Amino acid sequence: MDISNGEGIGVALFVQGCPFKPHCRGCFNPETWDFDGGKEWTAESKDKLIKLASRPYIKRLSILGGEPLANENLDGVLDLVNEIRILFPQKTIWLYSGYTWEQLFEDDKFDIEGGICENQTRRAIVLSTDVFIDGRYVDSQKDLTLKWRGSKNQKVIDVKKSIQQGEVVLWCN
Ligand code: SF4
Repeated sequence: MDISNGEGIGVALFVQGCPFKPHCRGCFNPETWDFDGGKEWTAESKDKLIKLASRPYIKRLSILGGEPLANENLDGVLDLVNEIRILFPQKTIWLYSGYTWEQLFEDDKFDIEGGICENQTRRAIVLSTDVFIDGRYVDSQKDLTLKWRGSKNQKVIDVKKSIQQGEVVLWCN
């Protein structure tokens, strides 16, 4: 259950493992850095999450980390967003990532882990979401008054409008 990582009442999934090095100074979730940490993602845990998300007062699913778009997490996250899309088309999906929109959609060569192929999967995941909060946390740009993000460099992006208009459109300032 979550009221701080997106609009309204939602369910949040924290994905384990962060490949960004050095890790961000002041990261709010260092326990998610280790790819060997966390709890195993199983069919049972997915069912539990879907059951929670099915409740009528749950308006969204938020996926955070760690890094949901790390190579190790791509298959599981893609599978989850596709299933949530089909089961609950009226609910919104929010995705937090250290990758920026520009790195994913405007730079075919950008990939901290290597491979255009992985970037295509990352794009497929982002395109299945409604709101994409992009970029690493930058401690020197920390601002506690910002909604749904920690530092000024991060953007809260309206994914559908951005695709329709061919440029980044913000969900909120
Ligand atoms: S990218 Fe995210 S999880 Fe990784 S160190 Fe930065 S804030 Fe923490």
